[in-house]
Amino acid sequence: MKQTPLTGFSSVCVHAGHEQDPHYAHLTPIYASSTYVYDSADQGMRRFSGQEDGYIYTRWDSPNFREAEQKIAALECFGLTGPGGGPLQAKAKLHASGMGALSTLFIGNLKSGDKIISHYSLYGGTDELFRKILPPLGIEAVIVDMHDINQTEAAIKADPSIRMMYLETPANPTLRCVDLEALIGLAHQYKLVSAVDNTFATAYLQQPFAYGADYVFHSTTKFLNGHGTAIGGVLIGTDVEKMNGPIEKVHRLLGANSNPFDAFLLTQGIKTMEVRMERHCHNAMEVAGFLDSHPAVARVNYLGLADHPDFTIASRQMKHAGAMMSFELKGGLEAGKRFIDRLQMCLRAVSLGTCDTLICHPASMTHYGVPKEMREKYEITDGLIRVSVGIEAVTDILNDLDQALQ
Ligand SMILES: *Cc1c(COP(=O)(O)O)cnc(C)c1O
Repeated sequence: MKQTPLTGFSSVCVHAGHEQDPHYAHLTPIYASSTYVYDSADQGMRRFSGQEDGYIYTRWDSPNFREAEQKIAALECFGLTGPGGGPLQAKAKLHASGMGALSTLFIGNLKSGDKIISHYSLYGGTDELFRKILPPLGIEAVIVDMHDINQTEAAIKADPSIRMMYLETPANPTLRCVDLEALIGLAHQYKLVSAVDNTFATAYLQQPFAYGADYVFHSTTKFLNGHGTAIGGVLIGTDVEKMNGPIEKVHRLLGANSNPFDAFLLTQGIKTMEVRMERHCHNAMEVAGFLDSHPAVARVNYLGLADHPDFTIASRQMKHAGAMMSFELKGGLEAGKRFIDRLQMCLRAVSLGTCDTLICHPASMTHYGVPKEMREKYEITDGLIRVSVGIEAVTDILNDLDQALQ
């Protein structure tokens, strides 16, 4: 590990978590090995008992996982002070996917009879986990409007079985935000475990640990990997003992481990995160301005525009407004489909956070199966288009959007 204190976020992106390879390879090679060997029975025993640090089995740990995990933990803690006055410490566990990391989060912290308090418009997979997978295990989600702090507090007071607060900000696809400082403060007051999905923002734009969140979660598939080369998820916790104990146990036994190749790709992707995010956000601001003044566009949801309902919260808790936006075409569903079909450079795809600009039409893609009334309750209207703005030259993005809107 590089011992020099690193003063800049981008230096941490590049160097944190790296350990010198015994053969002096520049990059940590991909450890394509399911198991690790011991010199003696005694050494095996020392490794298993935790007296000696080392690798045992790749479902548990690997040099490639550890590099990505240490890098991500360092980024989420960048510049923050811990309870003892020194730098904040956190432990990250890499998973096969974002959903795998969420499974560890919920199963590792909750038992039958416990409830989660959360808000409207969550990532589709998280919403289904709350509605379909957790209830048969006896874990339920209480959904309230968390823009209203009093309503949130009243709901917590009314139900002592609420044990966890789960936040996603900014949220998909309308970019609604919730107030991290106020809500995590409330979680502390009522002794709830707090967890934040930081996928849309990344640690570069927003640090939930600054407000005392217990856990931060990412789908690393998105901006952390940054190139769309691998699925992955990470759970980061500031209670290092708990992370190394019960959470590590759940991670090992649920089997949602990452793999050395995907972890290698993630590590390389994170190195350029600050430069990519700067460009993503700069391009997104230009795209939002262009769409906002286009006659075919009825409305733009972007956190950098002062008319977004959560502009103030976002300006307070995020460094920039991010790369995600959605917009509404005046012509509704038909206009939406026509626009998508006419795109030439921007790609028609779900997912987000890649170098390429990705555009999807929630009503005909991600939310096709959701009844119209339900969709409209979440403001996912027929003409809504979601854009993950890429790092191409912004002129080319604008030209493509312009010709597709003709
Ligand atoms: C993609 C995503 C997830 C799920 O992650 P996977 O890597 O697809 O399992 C969770 N939350 C958000 C906000 C996401 O965008």
